[in-house]
Parts: sequence; structure tokens; C-alpha cells
Amino acid sequence: MPLRLTINNQSVHVAAGRTILEAAASIGIEIPTVCYHKDLSPVGSCRLCLVEVDGWRDPVAACVQPAENGVVVRTESQTLTGHRRQILELLLADGFFLEDGASGELETEFQRLVRRYGAKLPARGLQTARYKIDSDPNPFVWVDLNKCILCSRCMRACDEVQGRFVWGVGGKGRDTKIIAGADETMLDARCESCGACSAYCPTGALADRMSVGLGQPDRVVTTTCGYCGVGCQFDLQIKDDRIIRVASNAAAPVNGMSLCVKGRYGWDYVHHADRLLRPRVREYLLAERSPAALRSRTSENGRTEWVEVDWDTALDLVADKFTSIQRESGPDAIGVFSSAKCSNEENYLTQKLARQVIGTNNVDHCARLCHSSTVAGLAMCFGSGAMSNSMDDIVEHARAMFIIGSNTTEQHPVFGAMIRQAVLKRDVKLVVADPRKIDITEFATLHIRQKPGTDVALLNGLMYIILANSCHDREFIERRCEGFEELEETVSKYPPAVASEITGVPVDQLKQAADVLAANRPMATIWAMGITQHTTGVLNVLSLGNLQMLLGNMGVPGGGVNPLRGQNNVQGACDMGALPNVFPGYQAVTDPEILEKFSQAWALESLRGPASLRSRVSIPNQPGLTVTEMIDAAGTGEIRGLYVLGENPVLTDPDSNHVRSCLDTAEFVVLQEIFPSETSNYADVLLPGTSFAERTGTFTNTERRVQLFRQAISPLGEARPDWRITANMAYRILDRQQRRPIGPHAGWEYSNTADIMNEIAALTPSYGGVSYARLENGERLQWPVTGPDHPGTPILHVGQFTRGNGKFHAVDHLPARELPDDDYPLLLTTGRVLYHWHGGEMSRRARGLLAVYPESLVEVSRDDAARLGIADEQTVRVQSRRGEMLARAVITERVAPGIVFGNFHFPGQQNVNNVTIAALDPVAKIPEYKVCAVRVEPVA
Ligand code: SF4
Repeated sequence: MPLRLTINNQSVHVAAGRTILEAAASIGIEIPTVCYHKDLSPVGSCRLCLVEVDGWRDPVAACVQPAENGVVVRTESQTLTGHRRQILELLLADGFFLEDGASGELETEFQRLVRRYGAKLPARGLQTARYKIDSDPNPFVWVDLNKCILCSRCMRACDEVQGRFVWGVGGKGRDTKIIAGADETMLDARCESCGACSAYCPTGALADRMSVGLGQPDRVVTTTCGYCGVGCQFDLQIKDDRIIRVASNAAAPVNGMSLCVKGRYGWDYVHHADRLLRPRVREYLLAERSPAALRSRTSENGRTEWVEVDWDTALDLVADKFTSIQRESGPDAIGVFSSAKCSNEENYLTQKLARQVIGTNNVDHCARLCHSSTVAGLAMCFGSGAMSNSMDDIVEHARAMFIIGSNTTEQHPVFGAMIRQAVLKRDVKLVVADPRKIDITEFATLHIRQKPGTDVALLNGLMYIILANSCHDREFIERRCEGFEELEETVSKYPPAVASEITGVPVDQLKQAADVLAANRPMATIWAMGITQHTTGVLNVLSLGNLQMLLGNMGVPGGGVNPLRGQNNVQGACDMGALPNVFPGYQAVTDPEILEKFSQAWALESLRGPASLRSRVSIPNQPGLTVTEMIDAAGTGEIRGLYVLGENPVLTDPDSNHVRSCLDTAEFVVLQEIFPSETSNYADVLLPGTSFAERTGTFTNTERRVQLFRQAISPLGEARPDWRITANMAYRILDRQQRRPIGPHAGWEYSNTADIMNEIAALTPSYGGVSYARLENGERLQWPVTGPDHPGTPILHVGQFTRGNGKFHAVDHLPARELPDDDYPLLLTTGRVLYHWHGGEMSRRARGLLAVYPESLVEVSRDDAARLGIADEQTVRVQSRRGEMLARAVITERVAPGIVFGNFHFPGQQNVNNVTIAALDPVAKIPEYKVCAVRVEPVA
């Protein structure tokens, strides 16, 4: 029964158990608070929220006082105002407050209350600072305990939002203060630098160091993070056309107040001095037009020096060159790399450029390197290659989670923090399968350490036990699936002893894991590149699909298959058809009806020859080359021209020496980027694009959620939004081809990105109902959104799979392509770290991120370090059959003996991809970044 009470003469109904403060908030009455925050457990310590209740002797703290039926409450009165002023003056009188604005001139919550209630700073409290101002050396959070009122919001935020438990209380009496760990620095206390403590601090005792002293913004723009696929939103605070601060936005759909260190503190790369501000072309290209201009200086890899030029010169050069290559060698002599950093609209235009204007399906992007096996495998199982459930659904409804091959708290930190809270608050059973002892294992019911490259054997072993115990969901399998008998037969070859032998996981752990996963349903599987980046990547994904069908965990809240996509818009880049085999919305280029649909929509007419012979747009009906194949083809001359949008293949593709050699051979490379990179050494034209803060568009996050990001500052220098550059290039090429658009969506004259989204919606059924108007209206849209009234789809496969029946695939274990041997006795596996992102082009130019993690580190086990004579922090050489890298060793329990781990965020000699192998999954063509054989030696 709801309770009825009266607050300030208004009647309100609330559920039993709600507090008076919550009841008041539900009818828009704000009660002043300091220690209370709606996201945190109430402590009722500051007493500022005192209210009067008729018939009760004393005022009560509304944040902890449960509402009672029939009570009459007053939240404002002269007496209460007096109480509140007194409380504020007591806090001020503690002498902790100085008058200067060490946390910047931003007015804090506490200062607003002081002003509202006219509380006065007592003179005796203002004489000296009791604590050192700026008392912690970390690069992100400014600590000034002189402003601390011990409200404990920082502690509760760290515990209850982030799950990191950095902050505590130390000292006694008047010397009581908050401390990090055992009175250590924050980083020593294992702080993840998420800034939650600063975001929840009401007084500025903890503040964002990068923004201290930068004052009030003159504009605030809500936007979406440009780093990872979680898709957090926040407010960019702008002053004088520069970013001065990132602030949490409590209404953010995915993350609320939470952010990770990259989102909150990794923004200063936008203003970095390395930004490309004008187009550049190699001198020889100008010389071809004006031989007298050639000075014949060459750069280190044989290309002539850069010359800055205006946009018309650069774009005309590119259009001329691509047109002549197309005429001389055909459209397939050109390859296009699209970008997971770019928007949906930009990816749509890039693949349209490739297909409509150039006439090739040679278009791909870095999803090839991270989740192409997910897209292929899930499409084979279910007909749709995307995350089936939503992050909030999983943390609210799953009874168990199975994280396999995902270092979630470092790669998708906000989701990782949500998972930690689900374990702490709901006792979710967490099984982690990972060769490394990653941070999330601290929260696991069970951590199993399979050998890298043995996931199929592990999953078959688990399914063997589930079947042997008759724990599978017979009814679900019969009703919704096919191929079960074949699966059963294959799985029967993996009894625990066999699975244990292949994976290295003890039999009892296999049994325990199978029991936990089977007994706690719904169970959500969560994975990332630990599953996908193998020559068996597709088989691994098929096995996860098998497991979830076997347990009936598909199409239900809290279950599903949940690949965590890497870059901010890698999901969207796939959705937009920046892949060699599909148009937008995964519509196959091999399907004649689909081909006809796009040929009509994008129809072009030749202005040459008699009207009867004028050709229409011709798009090949066969898939084009993948990213890795295009690199190889550039090396052989099969591809003469490459257009690379926002990618750095020299750093991120496997076997970098091979990539360098291929790009060196390539005839003409155009790179559109915000910074010069290792790849720009091999480019002939550099086109300056813009960062996420300088343009508008949409990103689609890992859970298929389409979200706006908004322009907050002007483009730097002469940089242009990428969609404008691509469109400009397209109509210059069409002009040279003497073709003009005649189809309903063939033109390139877009006035803004909303126009482009309208075209996407018209041609892409799963985005059919997406529009800027709906997004601006605050609608939360996860595709498929099939029409203007369709609400979106938070959970896929409810009632029926996209392909009809779910299909079991019988898959066997296959060994990795290159395993350790006498010459190369260690197994190298690679990944990312919390403080950097992807190739590091952005994160290495963010001061704080670089300060905490300034160089490439390689994890080595204690056993191997002792055997090889490697000291902690000593420089080591890691060698494989393909090349070598230098890095500093971290001796750690995180890796098991026989395994070393390196990250791919650093260039040159520190690049782990000098060493990795370019062996590919035969279906998805994803490289096997997770396993290759190396030897490691100390460098004197
Ligand atoms: Fe940005 Fe990802 Fe961090 Fe969220 S979790 S703030 S999206 S990097």
C-alpha cells in the first residue's frame, strides 16, 4: 500500500520505505543537503536536510527518515533556516575554509548553500591552512583537505559507484581527515583515477586538477565520449572556444555520474600542439604540376618533404589521382579504410564514396582487427552480429556473469565498475576465464586461467559437464534451436580430463565453473578481444553462442551474448557498411535485390556519350578486400591508391615491418587524421580532420545505442569535419568522371549531419526510425528502430532469433598458428591498458594519461624473470620471427609462467606489433594478436 503524506501543503503518495526527502523530490520540492546524494547510501550526518513534522518534538533528517502515513511535513520555516545557517557556520567555523578558490572559480554546492542561507565565515577560522594545499601528487585530482567537511561523499562514491575503496578516514578529533589507503598517495592506494570522488565532492576539497583556476565556462555542451564503446555522455565546459573541463551529467543514459579516467581527464589532446591544422601534400605532387617547384628533398623513407597547401589544392590532387588510377587500373585498384573513431554519418559517406563514386567494395575498418569474428560468428548463430542485451539490463537482472577474454575494468571501465557493483550489491556470481589475473578477478566467484588459444576446448569442456549433469534447457533447445545433435556429438569428445589437458584448467575448476553458470540463470556472457583475436576467433564466438543456447539464456533479461566493442563507434562503423561484404544495416552486397536497391538509390548518370549509352552506377556484387588484405595488395601493387580515414595501420596492424614495407610500396596514400602518425610517414597527402569536440554526429555504442555527439568548439586551424572532407572529395571525383547524381540518394550536397542520417534511415531498415529530432528529444534508441514510432530494441532475439531458429555449431579445438618452441619459448599475448586507448594517438597526447603510463611495459612472471635474469623495471628485448620490440619489464603475478603480455599503445621500437603474427582467422580475417611465440632477454 502506498503511503500518503503532506509536504508543504501538497499531498504526495510514495511506496513504503521511501524517505521524506525522496517523497519531497517526487513532487519537485528540493530539500537542501550536503552529505546526501541520490546515487549514494544516506548517512544523515550533516543534518542540513532537517524538516519539521507536525506533532513531532524535534526536526528530523529527511534523507534518512522514512515517510509515514498521514504525517504533515514542512521543509522551510524560519526555525529551519536558522538551524541550517547554524550548521553551515559550524562547518565554516572549523577553520577549514580559505578564501582563495584553489579548486577554480566554479561555485560549489556548498558555496551555493552558504550564500543561500547567509552563513558567515567566522574570522577565527580563516587564519591558516591546516593541511597542505594540493597534497596528492596524482595528475588528475587536486586535493585540498582544508575544504573538507567530512561529508564522506567521496568515500561512498569510491566504494558504491567505482568499487575501488581508495578513500577512508584517519586521525582523531579535530585532526580527523579523509585519507587514501593507509595514508598513501591515491595512485599507491590503487586509485583508477575515475574522478568520482571529485565529481561527488560538494566543497571542492577534491577537484579536477586540469581545470583548477580555469574559472566558469561560458558554454556547456552535452556530448558523447570519443574513446571507448561504452558510450558515456558528459558535459564539455567551454571557455573562449577551448575545453576547460569535463563534468558528469547525471542524466547520461549509460553512465549517469560515472566516467573513467580517459573520459574525464583525457580531453586535452584536442588542443595539443601536434594537431594537423592545414592540408599537407608531398612536394613531388606539386612538382608534377609545376616541375620548377621541386626541391627534391626526401624524407627518411624516400617520400619528398611535406608542403602545406590550401584545401582546393589538396582535394584536387586527391581527386585527380584517384580518378586516374580508377581509369587506368579499374576501381578495385583503390582501397578505402574507414574509421571506428568517426561518426555513423562519416562511415556511411566513406562506404558510399567507395561503392558509388569509386565503384569498389574495397572498404573496411578496424573492426576487422577487433570484432570481425564476433560479427561473423553471431550472424551464423543468430542472424545478427551484435550485443544482444544492454549494460543496465545485465547488471540489474543477471544472476551470473561469465567474463571471458575481456579485461573489463581497464577496457570498458564504466561497465566494469557497474559489474563490480552488481557483485557487491546483488551477489551476482561472476566467473572470469582469462589467462591473466586481471583486476576484475578480485570480484570473481571463480577465476579460471586457460592457456591462451584454448577457448573452444574450455567451452566444450564446460558444455560437456552441463550436458552430463542434464542442466541444459531442453525446452528452449527444442523450441528455438537447430543442430543440437551435432553439438552433443562434438562436445562428447571433451570430457573434463581432456578439456583440462588442453586448457591447463584443473578438472575441479571446470566442474565448479559449469555448476555456477548452470545454476544461476539468467547468465550473461561478456567478451572482448581475448575471444576474437585468434585464428579460431569465429569458432570461439560460435562456442559462446552454443553455451547460451544450451542454457536457454537468449532473448531474456540478464542473459545473452555480449561482445564489448572497442572504439567509440566501431559498432556504428559496422552498422554503416564500412565492411567489404555488406551495405549499411548488414545488407549483403551479394544479394541481387539489395544491390539493385542501392544502385537505384545512388544512381549516377554519365554526361559523356549518347544518352542511350549513359551508364548508371555499377557496384560489384562480390565482397571487396579486408583491411589486412588491402595492405598486402598495396605491397604487391594490386592496390595503387589508399584512402585512410582516422586509422594508423603501421601501429595497430600485426607484423608492423610487413605493413611498413607494403605502404612504402604503395603508389598513393591519402591519410585523413587529426595528428601526424607513424602511417603519415607513408602518406602522400594529409588531410586535417577534427576531433569529437569540433563536429556533430552520432556514435552507436556497444549495446547498439545511437547517441548524438555535439560540436562544442570551432574546428582548429583549417581542419574540417570528416564528413565534409569526404563529401567534397566525392563530388570532385564525380566532376572529373563527368557523372552526375540522378538517384534519390545519389547526391553529396548535405547541409548538415542530420541530412545524412535521414539518408541512412531511408536505406537501412534497422536505423529506419532514427532521426536527430528523436535523439534531441531525449529518446533512447537501440537498433533495430524500424520506424518513426518504433521504440528501439534493448534486448535482441526475444521470442525469435533474427535468422529464425538459433543454430548450434559443432566446433573443435584447433591450436594457435604459432606456439612456443625451443627458439622462441614464451607465449606473447597482447592487449590494452586503462590509461591508453588503441594506437595511443589521442591518449599519448593527454598529459595526465601519459604521466601515469609514459612508456610500453611488458608483464613477465616471477619464474620467467628469475630464470632469464630480468629485474623489475629493466628494459627487455622481445623478439619473434618477425621483429623485435623494447620495453620495460613489470614482474608480476598477473601472467602465468611461460606467458608475457604487451600493449600496443606505443610506436617505434616500443610497438608490440613489430612482433605479432599476421596469421588470420579464415572466415573473419582477424589477426591472431593474442598468441605468438617470442623470446625475451634483458638489455644491459
Ligand atoms: Fe569514455 Fe569509455 Fe571511459 Fe566511458 S568508459 S568515459 S566511454 S572511455
